[in-house]
Order: sequence, then structure tokens, then C-alpha cells
Amino acid sequence: MGSRSAGHRTKYLLVTGGVVSSIGKGLTSASIGALMEARGLTVTHMKLDPYINVDPGTMSPYQHGEVYVTDDGAETDLDLGHYERFTSARLTRNHNVTTGRIYETVISKERRGEYLGATVQVIPHITDEIKRRIYAAAGDADIAIIEIGGTVGDIESLPFLEAIRQLKVEQGAQNAMSVHVTLVPHIPTAGEMKTKPTQHSVREMREIGIQPDLLVCRCDRNITQSLKEKIALFSNVPVDRVIPAVDVSCIYELPIALHLEGIDTQIAEQLNIWSRQPDMSKWEETVERFKNPPQGKVRIGVVGKYVHLKDSYKSLHEALVHGGIAGGVSVHLEYIDSTHLERGGSLASHLEHLDAILVPGGFGDRGVEGKISAIRYAREHKIPFFGICLGMQLAVIEYARNVCGLEGASSVEFGEKVTHPVIDLMPDQRGIERKGGTMRLGAYPCKLTPGSRAAEIYGTNEISERHRHRFEFNNDYRAQLTAGGLVLSGTSPDDRLVEIIELRDHPHFIGCQFHPEFKSHPHEAHPLFSSFVRAAIARRESVGRGPRETAEAAPLEMH
Ligand code: GLN
Repeated sequence: MGSRSAGHRTKYLLVTGGVVSSIGKGLTSASIGALMEARGLTVTHMKLDPYINVDPGTMSPYQHGEVYVTDDGAETDLDLGHYERFTSARLTRNHNVTTGRIYETVISKERRGEYLGATVQVIPHITDEIKRRIYAAAGDADIAIIEIGGTVGDIESLPFLEAIRQLKVEQGAQNAMSVHVTLVPHIPTAGEMKTKPTQHSVREMREIGIQPDLLVCRCDRNITQSLKEKIALFSNVPVDRVIPAVDVSCIYELPIALHLEGIDTQIAEQLNIWSRQPDMSKWEETVERFKNPPQGKVRIGVVGKYVHLKDSYKSLHEALVHGGIAGGVSVHLEYIDSTHLERGGSLASHLEHLDAILVPGGFGDRGVEGKISAIRYAREHKIPFFGICLGMQLAVIEYARNVCGLEGASSVEFGEKVTHPVIDLMPDQRGIERKGGTMRLGAYPCKLTPGSRAAEIYGTNEISERHRHRFEFNNDYRAQLTAGGLVLSGTSPDDRLVEIIELRDHPHFIGCQFHPEFKSHPHEAHPLFSSFVRAAIARRESVGRGPRETAEAAPLEMH
């Protein structure tokens, strides 16, 4: 188990959550990863999800948040996005495992007779499979941070908790540590912070045999020393390991806040890791630029189909924030429901005040005509435009219809009988219908046309980006569309697939078939996002909107 070269041993941090869901286990795990990395250690992350779905690929983003795509094409939980943004860990399909996948493996082993006729049970067969996957995902990292989804007390998380209980025993206290994230609410009517929920959730942990080694207490105000002592006493955790996590206005502040509470020192101490104090200067600089942007604000409209929940565009939201940090501006996102743009009325009233317009990825035909109108508006009024995946496909459709005169141009995604299917399935995809089976997923190389805007923005001619889509630019229309002025500035190395389109004679009009938002970092914005935000600033200046005039609006609006 954990077959490592002599002298090297992975240490495990096992992160669980109590009291309520959405308590911030993902961000806490990511922040701990950032801190351990800043101490000079190598980290990896894993998320164990208790639901039965085999992967989140087929789950509704409105219920479950965005589907995050890794380089190897796994459709994963959005927490993997936090991990990759906060650390340099590169995750794969082995780093997000669901109950469904565990059972799938165990059942197929049983069918193959690998259990030699034994009765196959949750303990040990399911728990062994969970541990096997944890050890495999850890690889040779110094620290493996394993987050268990759900809340302690849920029936479905029990096998995972039992597995980490066993893992703690196998590894010993110096090699595996339980980090439990709880809530310490402030009750306004009592004028007090309450520790009872934390008491209950720690008791729940101990009932299944896990003594938490460190508590991260989410709270909206500071926890006094005497309250910390109280929590320490009943939870059997040393008082220095009761770590308050007071709400922060910028998520990139969390590693700094946890560091100031001593979390990384406590972890290093228990796990007996000799490492330097973390260098937090990059994080401090990022937070400072986020909070005090030297160039004021820009307004960017994101035209999509919303049931609301910005979690369904989590990485996109963060990538735009990163672009703002790079450009020295605060990015105010205005989420515009494209179905509203279809109801007549003037487009200008929705779009005129924006410094830039983005059309993100999406599936299905609802609201596409509204998005196409927004793209046309951006093109004709020279408002910086960025189209991602479906956003690029719709930009191609718009150009085909309104510039190249291909009336009825559309995507076969929106109906079988299309006069000009400028977006279509590739010939080898036709006839394969199983859901998910035909998606192009994960990282693909792309070559950029020298001299194009894309090549200038990236500063190189060869890139690799992540995909998640079924339909493609139809090569039958290449000649007509390029003759009409559309620039194909990025293609697959074999030239079969169009990956980036752009327009000349426009301050910034770019569409890409991939999802660059999955590869953006707070300290290093993705070039397509930093250039887009720069274009928004230039637009704001050129129309004479000063930094202050755009500052009145609330950061997040829906209309
Ligand atoms: N629905 C489009 C396709 O399948 C675009 C997908 C996306 O935007 N992620 O090709």
C-alpha cells in the first residue's frame, strides 16, 4: 500500500464537513493546498462524491454547478476547478470519484470472479476500493488533500468515512490527519455565537470512529479565545487547532486568512513536516489588486440562459475576475438572460451601456436567437466580444446569416433540417447517439495562424486547451465564410477542426471552440481573458465613460 521509494511518504489530509452543506470545504481544501505549496511542498487533491451518478457529466449544472473538465477529458465536480486554480496540481479522472464509480468497479470485479466466491460487502470490498483509489490518486505528492463530499451524518457518505477511518489507522497520526469543517453561527436574537452545531457534528464524527485533528470553523465574525477554548474542550481538539475561518470578501484571501490563524503550522507540526514558512506575497498582491483596482471598473455583459446560480458558470466567473486582476480593474458582471433579448424591445437598452459582451458555452436551442442578436449588436457597434464554445458557434451563425448572406444558417443542434448547417457534427460522429458518447472532451492541441490576433494574444503559435462539446464548425462552409471576411485563426494541427475565429476591423471579436476558463489562474489570468478585459477598458475609455461612471452598479445583476 502506498508503495513509495524509501524516505518518501505521502501525508494525507482528510477533509470532511459538518452541520450544513455548502460550508466551503472545497475552498478550504484548495486554500490548504495553496499554503502547503507555498511552503515548498508538492500537493495533489482528490474529491470523493457520495452520489450514485458515475460522473457529474450528465447532471444539471443548475442543480450541481458547473461541470469542470480536466486535461484528460474527465467531467468532474466544480471543486476540482478550485483545486487547480489555487495550486499547480494537475488533476485527472482519478481525482474525482463517486459512489457510482466505486460500485461500478467492485461489481465488474465480482462479475469477473475476482473475489473468488466471497460475499461482496461494503466493508471490506467497497472501503478497500475507496482506499485503493485514494492511494492511487495521491501518486508521489508530499501532501494529498482528500475531500469527502456531503455532510457528516448523511447515509450515503458512510462508506467514505469508514474508509478514511481505516486509512488513518493504517497510516498513523503523523501521516494522516482529519480536518473537519463546521459552522459556528451567530444568532442575532441571542446576540451570541453558538457552538452546539459544531459539538453535534464532532460527536457524529467520533461515533463513526474518527477523532478530528483540526477544526475549521466557518463564521461571520471572529471567534473569541474563550469560545475557542470551549470548542476545544468538548471536541477533544487542541485549542491551537480550532481555526476560525471568518467570511472573506475575496476567495483568494482565504489562504492568507487561514495562514494567519496558524493552520499550516499546525498541519506541519502534526504531520511532522519540515518546511519553510509560506511565501504569501503572490496571494497578497492578488488580493490587493482585487480590492483596490487602480483602473476602476468595467461592465461586462454575460449573455446566457439562466435559471440563476452563478455556480453553473463558476470557472468563467473566476477567469473574468482574473482578467480584471491582471488589467487592474474590477469586473462587474451583468448576467443577461438571452430569452429577454428575444422579446422585442430595443437591444440597445440591454447592451449599450456595456464595455464588453461575452456569450458563454451552453446546450440546446433555448435563447439562442437572443444570443445571436447580442453578437450582432457587439459586431456592428464594435463592442469587444468573446464567444466561448456555443458562443463561438453562434458567432459563426451570425456572421454566415448577416454578413455572408446565408439565410437560415444554423447549427444542427437546434434542428435537423437546416438550410445552411454551418455548425454540424463531424462525418464520423453521425449515427452515434449515446448521451455523452460523442462529446469532444479534454485537452487538444491547436495551432494559431501567425500574425492573427489570437497568436498575438497568446504570444505563441501552439497551444493546448480543453473542450466539451459535440458540434463543430462545418468545413463545407470554410471557403464561403473566409471569403466573407471571417478569420479562422486557430485550427487543430491537422487542420480538420476550426478552433478559433476572429474578425479584423473590430477592436476585439474572438470566438473559441474550447473553454479557456478552465485554465485561468488568479495570479496568471488566461491570455484570452486578460486581453478581453483590456479591450473592455479601451472601449470604456473610447466612449468617454470614466472609471467612476461605471462604478454605480452592483457587482452582480440579473435582468
Ligand atoms: N452545445 C454545443 C455543442 O455541443 C456547445 C457546447 C458548449 O458550449 N460547451 O457543441
